[in-house]
Amino acid sequence: MDLGLRGKVALVVAASKGLGKAAALELAREGAAVAICARTEATLRATAAEIERATGSEVLAVVADVSHADDVERLVQATVDRFGRLDILVTNAGGPPPGYFLDLGDEPWHAAVELTLMSTVRLCRAAIPHMRKNGWGRIVNITSVSVKQPMDNLLLSNALRAGVVGLAKTLSNQFASDGVTVNSVCPGWTLTDRVVELNATRAREDGVSVREVERQVTADIPMGRMGQPQELAALIAFLASERAGYITGTAIPVDGGYVKGLL
Ligand code: NAP
Repeated sequence: MDLGLRGKVALVVAASKGLGKAAALELAREGAAVAICARTEATLRATAAEIERATGSEVLAVVADVSHADDVERLVQATVDRFGRLDILVTNAGGPPPGYFLDLGDEPWHAAVELTLMSTVRLCRAAIPHMRKNGWGRIVNITSVSVKQPMDNLLLSNALRAGVVGLAKTLSNQFASDGVTVNSVCPGWTLTDRVVELNATRAREDGVSVREVERQVTADIPMGRMGQPQELAALIAFLASERAGYITGTAIPVDGGYVKGLL
């Protein structure tokens, strides 16, 4: 299937590693020019070079922290300055820290609002005018299965990612007539480097093998395994494509069946 992404320009944020990197790689493989950002310059530049080598597509690397308003504006402007347009935005950020309600004071809440919700608000606000100008745009938000099925110790994620999905649904209605679609993808357990490290730490702390930790995590996943980043990236590339022009306002899990609800 030709996704029609050749010649399109994509901005994938928080993309030097993990899910963002996999999305940037997939879009570049489909022929899009890609801008990526992260806070750590060396890793970001290495990833940009790796994607260029693997795909032959142009990659712009911009050091930026998506929780800072100025960085978001500079990032979108740098993308448009370099490539002359912006067609696709994939929002993403590091996850907010875990925690239970009575342990979380105002400070972690404020930080999580900036990181998870306001980064998405500001990225969409900066990107949408460029999409409307061309009568075509795709926004895909990387969220989590926590928007379908909240997790006990991930209160900040449960509360603020729901805000991202509410924002996305509203924007999808407002900008549909401009040819701009807005969707969210909801990864379940996915084997990024961060998750590999988390599993190793938990194994050390609990005095069990990594295999045992993985067995515990996957016990609730009907597929019996964690996902691979490229399995989420495939959906992101499709939602970003010409082919997905009639899909908007959705929040789609990629979770091996982890979410047990109907919708
Ligand atoms: P990861 O492997 O740790 O990658 C995170 C990427 O984001 C890195 O490139 C990191 O680079 C960048 N980043 C982090 N904070 C940033 C910021 N403030 N500004 C700009 N870039 C930033 O994480 P991941 O597993 O891909 O997860 C990505 C998102 O999906 C997280 O929000 C996570 O909670 C969510 N999620 C993951 C899973 C999973 O199983 N993997 C499941 C559900 C949801 P720097 O550190 O250099 O900035």
